[in-house]
Amino acid sequence: MAPKRVLVIVAHADDMEFTSGGTIAKMASLGYEIREVIATNNERGTLDREWTGEDAAEARREEARRGAKVLGVDPDIEFLGYEDGRLSETPLNELRERCMRSIRRFRPEVLFTWDPFAAYEEHQDHRAVAWAAMEAASFSHFPLYHPEHANDGLEPHYVGERYFFAKSPRDVNKAVDISEFLERKIDALCEHTSQMELTVADLQVQLAASGLDQAGLREADPKQYRPVIETMIRRWAAGVGRRHGLQFAEEFRRQRYGNIERWAPGAGEGLPDDV
Ligand SMILES: [Zn+2]
Repeated sequence: MAPKRVLVIVAHADDMEFTSGGTIAKMASLGYEIREVIATNNERGTLDREWTGEDAAEARREEARRGAKVLGVDPDIEFLGYEDGRLSETPLNELRERCMRSIRRFRPEVLFTWDPFAAYEEHQDHRAVAWAAMEAASFSHFPLYHPEHANDGLEPHYVGERYFFAKSPRDVNKAVDISEFLERKIDALCEHTSQMELTVADLQVQLAASGLDQAGLREADPKQYRPVIETMIRRWAAGVGRRHGLQFAEEFRRQRYGNIERWAPGAGEGLPDDV
C-alpha cells in the first residue's frame, strides 16, 4: 500500500490521542503523512486557578505539538483558534468552510474526526466539529462549494476514506489492532500534562460522588497522573479488543468511497485494508 495523507480534525488538543492515538501511531509507522487540525484553544482545560486563559491556551498548544510528535504526526498543527466549550455557537457553515480549506490545502486521502451520528456525546465542541468536518469532507471535491478558495490556489479535492470515532460508537465496522502501539498512545497522552492532571482530578470527583472506592485512584496525586492514565487506557483498549478478538484495539465507523464497495464489480474480495 502506498503511504497516504491523513488529516485529523478535532476539537481539542488531546482528542486524537484519546480516541485514535494507537491507530494514528500505526499509520505513521507505515509511512503515512499525518496532520492535525485543532478547532479550539483549549483554554478551559486546566484546574490551575493562577493561569489565565491565554496561559492555558499556550500550554495546550505546546502539549498538542509534543503529543503529535510522539505519535509521528506533523507537529506543525493547524489551530483554528475558536473558544473552548463554545464551538457550537460558531455558525456551522463558517466552521465547515475552515475545515474545507484545511482539506483542500493538505489534500488527504483519509479523514479522522468525531462521529456526528454517534449517541450520547455531551461535549458541544465534539458535536460541532464532527458535523463541520464530515460535511467539509463530503463536498470538498465540488468546485462550487467555496469557489473563492481558488483565489488562494486551493483546488477541489476528494477525500475517499473517513474514520469516525466516538465515546459511544455506533455501527462499528473497523477495529484496529493497536497492541504494538498502546505504549505509544499512553506516552502521547502523558505529554498533555495539564489535561491529564484534570482527567485524574475529574475521575476522583466521579469516584467520590459514586460512593465506590478504588484506593489507587483515590490516593493518586493528579500531578503524578501516569499510573492512573495507563490503567484507564489499558482497560479501555482491552475491553474494545475483547469485542474483536484482539489484545488491545481501537474501533471506528469507517466509510470508504461512499460505500461503493457494496455494489461495484470486483468488490467481492473487498478493498485492501490499511491497518
Ligand atoms: Zn475533546
